Amino acid sequence: MPHPPGFQRDRRSFLVALAAAAPLAAAPALACKPGRGSSVVVVGAGAAGLWAAQLLMDKGFTVTIVEASGRYGGRILPDTETAGGGLADFPIELGAEEIHGSSSVLFAMCADANAAFVDAVSADWFWMADGDGNVRLRDESVLETDDLAAEAVSFIDGLYRWDGDDITVTERLEDVGIADRVRFLVEAQVGNEYGSDDDHVGVLSLAQDDALWTSGSGNYALADVTMLSVVDLACSDARDFVQLNAVVTAVQSSNAGVVVTLADATTLSADYALVTVSLGVLKAGMIAFDPALSDEKQAAIANVGFGSGMKVVIAFTTRFWPDDLGSLYGAEHVPEFWAPGLGRTEDPLVLTAFVMGAKADALREEGGSDDGILALVLADLDAMYDGAATPAFAAGIVQDWTAEPYVLGSYSFPSPGSSALRADLARVEGRVHFAGEATHTTGMYATVHGALESGERAVQEILDRV
Ligand SMILES: Cc1cc2nc3c(=O)[nH]c(=O)nc-3n(C[C@H](O)[C@H](O)[C@H](O)COP(=O)(O)OP(=O)(O)OC[C@H]3O[C@@H](n4cnc5c(N)ncnc54)[C@H](O)[C@@H]3O)c2cc1C
Repeated sequence: MPHPPGFQRDRRSFLVALAAAAPLAAAPALACKPGRGSSVVVVGAGAAGLWAAQLLMDKGFTVTIVEASGRYGGRILPDTETAGGGLADFPIELGAEEIHGSSSVLFAMCADANAAFVDAVSADWFWMADGDGNVRLRDESVLETDDLAAEAVSFIDGLYRWDGDDITVTERLEDVGIADRVRFLVEAQVGNEYGSDDDHVGVLSLAQDDALWTSGSGNYALADVTMLSVVDLACSDARDFVQLNAVVTAVQSSNAGVVVTLADATTLSADYALVTVSLGVLKAGMIAFDPALSDEKQAAIANVGFGSGMKVVIAFTTRFWPDDLGSLYGAEHVPEFWAPGLGRTEDPLVLTAFVMGAKADALREEGGSDDGILALVLADLDAMYDGAATPAFAAGIVQDWTAEPYVLGSYSFPSPGSSALRADLARVEGRVHFAGEATHTTGMYATVHGALESGERAVQEILDRV
């Protein structure tokens, strides 16, 4: 979920009313040869797979959609879908939460669903040391009044204009000499935001991909419906055909067609396969391809980054943070907290911890269990709010995407050298087509609308050959 360039996810920009932005037509203008008579097996029922299946069905293809887990939606997951879910009186998203930009197929789907966006003014807070080493909570004026914080902000802006070698953000931090005390700002806004950490994000790939971003700069949170309900409505025909608990283990392609094999040894034959599984699943080699994937594809799978990551959502009995809290940066284990209830409910009593990359790995290892992870996140909040968090704890959900067996991480990120490799991730191999967020070739990977667009691209490729 990379946010558009600049230091701040500007929550004030969430205030744009849905009506103020022109929606696109939800169905893309795909070249119109009917697919009647041709068949496709779609592997994976996340945003990319569902939307591609819907478009293929609209074009008259015979479509089979197989999904390994017991639900559809993939990395779109409202807490009401989890065991013991429903933490609050508003929808909480354990995966994708915001719509990035008002010029995308997803934004248009929101319009079709008559979905409203959050309308609230918020303020960011920073847990950081001052020049004398005293750590305390500072309001957002610190970004202007503290010279080193201002330097970190301008460093982040500069990353998006970088045209040198594809070094990591950490290497660039060292070259510029950004002070340790403000590096957490960069970690939160760059490494963590991109689903990784500063040691693994490549500055040139980040800048090159960002230059291709076209969906606009606003970020929108749905006020009272879930992300899944929006995608569900747009894909309502396809959704009814998803075969759940159907784990694909092999995809065989020949001149005659494809044969897709499931874990229970069932085989599905079709003219084409469309594989939409996460890059994490491809990296893990969970699907055997015959013939083997090309060297180019294998190199791209190996070298495009796919981050570790989790969201920890905690409901409290009382609110101990400011009622307009937007984001809170700088805790020991959690680069960024936010208050998902802001603008959605009268008295928001929930905080979300967003932890990616090495910090997510460390939290998982140190915590050892969901309870252990919750205790560490509460300890971060206790440190900032004089011990107020643990006594006010009501319930929590640890959604560790790396532990999800059919996702194996958060989302793809711009690792050094990755910009040029996205096209290889997307390339067709025989009768096997590929979609999914990581295959988006013009910068909008790591998003729901990028996943949807990758599905459109793959459907167009199939239409071009029938
Ligand atoms: C914590 C988090 C926060 C995010 N926040 C945002 C946000 O605010 N805004 C935004 O736009 N995006 C966000 N994203 C990214 C967004 O969720 C993804 O880019 C998008 O949902 C990916 O969709 P997809 O279809 O490419 O993949 P997936 O959703 O991963 O779908 C792939 C499907 O394939 C299935 N599958 C895997 N292996 C097999 C197999 N062998 N056989 C059959 N099926 C299989 C999986 O179970 C899954 O359902 C976030 C992601 C995470 C993890």
